[in-house]
Amino acid sequence: MKIHQVYTESVLRNFTYLIELDNGSALVIDPWDAAEINSLLQHKQLRLNAIINTHEHWDHTQGNPELIAEHGCEVWAHSNGQGKVPGLSRMLTAGELIDLDSGAQLQVLDTPGHTYAHLCFLVLEQGTAVAVFTGDTLFNAGVGHCRGGDVDSLYQTISEQFHSLDNNVLVYPGHDYLENNLRFTLSVEPDNQQAQAWLPRAVAADPTVTPLVTCIGDEREFNSFFRLANAQIREGLGSVDATDKEVFIKLRSLRDNW
Ligand SMILES: [Zn+2]
Repeated sequence: MKIHQVYTESVLRNFTYLIELDNGSALVIDPWDAAEINSLLQHKQLRLNAIINTHEHWDHTQGNPELIAEHGCEVWAHSNGQGKVPGLSRMLTAGELIDLDSGAQLQVLDTPGHTYAHLCFLVLEQGTAVAVFTGDTLFNAGVGHCRGGDVDSLYQTISEQFHSLDNNVLVYPGHDYLENNLRFTLSVEPDNQQAQAWLPRAVAADPTVTPLVTCIGDEREFNSFFRLANAQIREGLGSVDATDKEVFIKLRSLRDNW
């Protein structure tokens, strides 16, 4: 199995992912540009089995109709995506395992917050999580907005399903927001040395060539939404004695207006 992270050069800096399997088939996650995916499939001589949409927003599903027409492929997403995800043919549920290559699977996570139809996907190798596709739930150094969902649910999702992941799990988000998110981190925690060190790398990186990939361990170090106990963040927010959830909600609201 190979994971191709495709930067789409859309105004929203979307990522599409192509999962190449050893048997010559492929899955695509959140197709933005069907033509770009088709040329990749052709170049690698792969047949497309299915589209997976992390959630129903148009910038994660707009490639569906053209790919379905070309490949007759299935579309897998959350049941709450019915009527919103073009071509939805299989509804996925939390805990479900999707077989990839031998010994490799995707495990479905139900992750409400950004919307109520949001799924994330753990990549398991021999039963161990090695990566996670996070859509608009978790970004590199940030989390998604909650205009189509609610922030209480997003807090539950992040704290219960992401804080618990191993440090070396790679994060594959739906957008390239790393640079901007690091600037947000430094606005609420100016002394964060990891954010200081990563920012020039993020500025210099060209996502069309090699997108920077973070792991959960990096997120613990520079993602404010993983650092709810941090004294500098809490002092800045005037939330020294607040609960973690209150700090999370304040950070999200600050980020919305930042
Ligand atoms: Zn979205």
